[in-house]
Amino acid sequence: MTEPLLSVRDLCVDFITPGGPVRAVDRVSLDLHKGEILGLAGESGSGKSTFAQALLRILPAPAVIRGGEVRFEGQDLLSLDEGGLRKVRWTRISMVFQSAMDALNPVLKVGAQIADTIQAHDPVSADEARERAATLLEQVGIPRDRLDSFAHQLSGGMRQRVGIALALALEPSLVILDEPTTALDVIVEREILQEIRQLQRQRGFAVLFITHDLTRMLQFSDRVAIMYAARLAEVGPAAVIGSAPRHPYTQGLLRAFPSLHDEPGVVRSSIPGAPPRLASAPSGCRFAPRCPQAMPRCTESGPSLVTIAPDHRADCRLLD
Ligand code: SF4
Repeated sequence: MTEPLLSVRDLCVDFITPGGPVRAVDRVSLDLHKGEILGLAGESGSGKSTFAQALLRILPAPAVIRGGEVRFEGQDLLSLDEGGLRKVRWTRISMVFQSAMDALNPVLKVGAQIADTIQAHDPVSADEARERAATLLEQVGIPRDRLDSFAHQLSGGMRQRVGIALALALEPSLVILDEPTTALDVIVEREILQEIRQLQRQRGFAVLFITHDLTRMLQFSDRVAIMYAARLAEVGPAAVIGSAPRHPYTQGLLRAFPSLHDEPGVVRSSIPGAPPRLASAPSGCRFAPRCPQAMPRCTESGPSLVTIAPDHRADCRLLD
């Protein structure tokens, strides 16, 4: 296996609260290879978006990185100063947010916004930047005559497509998609994910795809990682996680989401209970209060990631 494009080791992020620090990402280690799509799933509050924001060091206060290592294209991102980070953000790693309105300037035409981004990093003429912006829009399914539209004149799906065009404008080698289609209807969502897949194959960038929708993630990703209560529960190839997950939490998630292979009449069941409050998470395995296979030793000490196969790890004492 070649050197990963992105290598994260033991990343820890705390939220500083009046009651003391609360760990929101707890010793998470993941690799992402060139041209690969890695899905990162988990319920709300599992730490998946915080993990992604920590990679780019765009964490909102009061979150702080407490430890670990983030290496991207061989460079240690956690030791870069602001100037060094500016050269990485958007140019080499870009991000598409859940709401494109967060990334788009409401008083600038979308074509001008993409062209400005190109010219800020690439000394090309205004005409060439505008032409590249039009090509990018067409590649994400928007006619070029929309170059002169403002964000509020576009549908939600079109705005997300503009956000994707903007994220691809500087040809980054990693694009982080943070729930990019959550607010859209399923048909538009499927179209957009297919377009991203096609562009990813053409251009060869890697994707970190964050979602709470395990079915969508399994369809879209090469490998998947599941987070629970700030920790990594399981990581492995999408085909393996979809057919033979080893962590009871992953198994519960799969039972909760509809599958493309469901026979008519299959009843889905949700996981009883709710994730723990991180400020008072149980000792040992954090999933134990909801786990149908919990054993006394699960609460005595926390499990640690067990290697099941070279590319498949799970954090469960059943595998000790
Ligand atoms: Fe369930 Fe125990 Fe595994 Fe946790 S360690 S997921 S409680 S079996």
